[in-house]
Amino acid sequence: MTYHSATGPVGAEGRYWDALLEGRLELPRCTGCGRWHWPAVWRCGSCGSWDHEWTQQPLEGEVFTYTRTHHPFGGTEAFAKPFSTLIVTLNSVPVRLVGVLEGDEAGLRIGALVTGTIARTAFGDAQIPALRWSLS
Ligand SMILES: [Zn+2]
Repeated sequence: MTYHSATGPVGAEGRYWDALLEGRLELPRCTGCGRWHWPAVWRCGSCGSWDHEWTQQPLEGEVFTYTRTHHPFGGTEAFAKPFSTLIVTLNSVPVRLVGVLEGDEAGLRIGALVTGTIARTAFGDAQIPALRWSLS
């Protein structure tokens, strides 16, 4: 499965994937009302605007919640078990993003500060960008 067609990105979130491939996190904000949208949308549900400005955001935030996976299932073959998957609230904008924790888990708790990196992960036959979080 791919997220790009031969002519460019597919879906409202196409720019997110393109930016990750180039090593940046970019997120959309409605230019009509200033609301942040994630997942990305074509049209703002608050003000009806079709225009969004994408800006680069730092990969810094705090753990909103997490889960630990102990048993293998399809798509997790590359991760040593157990591993933890985090939902992180970004510091810079009111958006939450998912990624796997890498490195030492000591100190993992809701509210812990984390920094992110952009890695690659297997998705079917493709290697797609994926977020990894580390405790700060
Ligand atoms: Zn809006």
